[in-house]
Amino acid sequence: MKDLSHWMNGAQVAGTSGRFGDVFNPATGEVQARVPLASRAELDAAVVAAAAAQPKWAATNPQRRARVMMEFVRLVNRDMDKLAEVLSAEHGKTFADSKGDIQRGVEVVEFCIGAPHLLKGEFTDSAGPGIDLYSLRQPLGVVAGITPFNFPAMIPMWKLAPAIVCGNAMILKPSERDPSVPLMLAQLMQEAGLPDGILQVVNGDKEVVDAILDNPVIQAVGFVGSTPIAHYIYSRGCAAGKRVQCFGGAKNHMIIMPDADLDQAADALVGAGYGAAGERCMAISVAVPVGDKTADALMERLVPKVEKLRVGPWTAGADIDYGPVVTAAAKANILRLVETGVAQGAKLRVDGRNFSLQGYEKGFFVGPHLFDHVTPEMDIYRTEIFGPVLSTVRAQSYEEALKLAMDHEYGNGIAIFTRDGDTARDFVNRVNVGMVGVNFPIPVPLAYHTFGGWKKSSFGDLNQHGPDAFRFYTRTKTVTARWPSGIKEGAAFNFKQMD
Ligand code: NAD
Repeated sequence: MKDLSHWMNGAQVAGTSGRFGDVFNPATGEVQARVPLASRAELDAAVVAAAAAQPKWAATNPQRRARVMMEFVRLVNRDMDKLAEVLSAEHGKTFADSKGDIQRGVEVVEFCIGAPHLLKGEFTDSAGPGIDLYSLRQPLGVVAGITPFNFPAMIPMWKLAPAIVCGNAMILKPSERDPSVPLMLAQLMQEAGLPDGILQVVNGDKEVVDAILDNPVIQAVGFVGSTPIAHYIYSRGCAAGKRVQCFGGAKNHMIIMPDADLDQAADALVGAGYGAAGERCMAISVAVPVGDKTADALMERLVPKVEKLRVGPWTAGADIDYGPVVTAAAKANILRLVETGVAQGAKLRVDGRNFSLQGYEKGFFVGPHLFDHVTPEMDIYRTEIFGPVLSTVRAQSYEEALKLAMDHEYGNGIAIFTRDGDTARDFVNRVNVGMVGVNFPIPVPLAYHTFGGWKKSSFGDLNQHGPDAFRFYTRTKTVTARWPSGIKEGAAFNFKQMD
C-alpha cells in the first residue's frame, strides 16, 4: 500500500496526525493508496512557513513571477500523459477526459502569464495641482484553496496559478479522494522555479478545512465543492473576517425548443449528461423539451443513444464513453435517488440499475439512466445527483420552461437549443443563471472570461479565473501623492476639493 504525503517547503512530507483516508481505484474498488489527513498543528506549521516565504515572492517583479507560470505550462505539457494516467486511475474518468481536465487548468495558467499587464493598476496624473492619484493591486499574503474531487487538475490550477502569480503564498487543500495530481503539480511548480513555501499542499478532511478557517494568517479562501459545504465555508470564513468565494453544486437544464435541430440536441444531451459519468458541475442533468411533440421526437433519438453508451475502465482507452463514479458511497447515493424517481412516478426509459461489468464487479460503475415525465416536486429533479442520470421534464411552452429553470435553487449553467434568434436573445437576457449556452451544451467560459454560477451555486461576489481572479487575490491600495511646487497653502480643515 502506497502512503501519500503532503507537500511543504518544497518537499514531500509524511503526515504526522496518524489519520489517513483511503484513495480508491474506482474501476476495481480496491484501495490503492492512503492519504494523510493533516491535523491543525500541521496546517498551522505550513502557514507559518508560507507567511515567511511570501514577502520575498511578492517583491519579485511580476514578469519574473509570470515566467514561473510560463515554465510550469511547459512542464505540465511535457508530463501530460503521466498526469492524465494518475488522474484517471484515482478519479476514474477516461484518459481523454483527464487530458481535458489538465488542459482546462493549463489555459488558466496561460492567462496568468499576462499578470504584469493585469496587475498594472490605475493612475490619474494631476488630479489636482501637483497631485497624482494611483491605485496599486497588492497581494493579500497567505491564501487557501479547497478543491473538489471531480476536477483534480483543473480546479487546483484555477486556484493556485492566479493566487501565486499575484504574489501570494497558497495553501492548497485538494480533495482527499484524488490527491496525487495536485501533489505532482506542486512538484512541477518547484521545477518551474517557484520558491519553496509559496505553494503548500496540505491534505486532509474537515479537520484541516476548519483549521484553515480558524487560522488568522490566512487572508482569503477559495472553495469549490458541494453547496452545503460551500455555504458552511462561506459563512464561517466571512465571520472570521476573511475574503471568501465558494462555488457550489448545480442542476443544469437544457431547453429544447420545437424548432431546434433535434439530432444535434440529442447528441449534445448525451455528451453533456453522461460524460465523466455525470460528475461535472456543468453537466446537463435536466432536459426540458417544449411541447409533447418535441419531447416524443427527442426521446426517440435519445433512448437508443443512451442505451448504447459504453461504460468501462479508463484503461480501455477510446472504447469507453465514461468510467466509474468516484466511490462506493457515490454509487449508492445515485442508485438510491434513481429508486426515489421510480417510486415517485417518473418513467425510467433507460434503466442502468443492474449494470455490471465482467472482471470489474467491485468497481463503482453505474449504468446510464434516462427518465421521462419527471416533475418539479420529485427528488431526482430537486437534488444534484452527480451521476449518469438524465431527467426529462416536459414543458408546454417556452415561458413554462424558462420559469422551471428560474425557480430551481441552483443556477450554475444552462443551455437553450433553438433556431430562433429572438427566443435565444430573450432567454439570455432573462434567465437567472450564471453561464448560458446557446446551441452549446456545456458553456464553460474560457480562461480569459470568468466562471461562476448564480443562486445556490455560488457564494461571494467575484467569479473564478479571468480578470475576477486577479481582483480576488489582490487588494487595492489607493495613493494620493502631492509634490508641492513651492507654494505653501497652510492647513486645510475640510476634505480637499480637487481644482
Ligand atoms: P465536497 O463538498 O464533498 O468536497 C469539496 C471539498 O470540501 C473537499 O476538499 C473536501 O475535503 C471538503 N469537505 C468535504 N466535507 C467537508 C466538511 N464537512 N467540512 C469541511 N470541508 C469539507 O464536494 P465533492 O464531492 O468533492 O465535489 C463535487 C461537488 O462539487 C458537486 O456538488 C459539484 O457540483 C461541485 N462542483 C462545483 C463546481 C463549480 O465551479 N461550481 C465545480 C466542480 C465541482
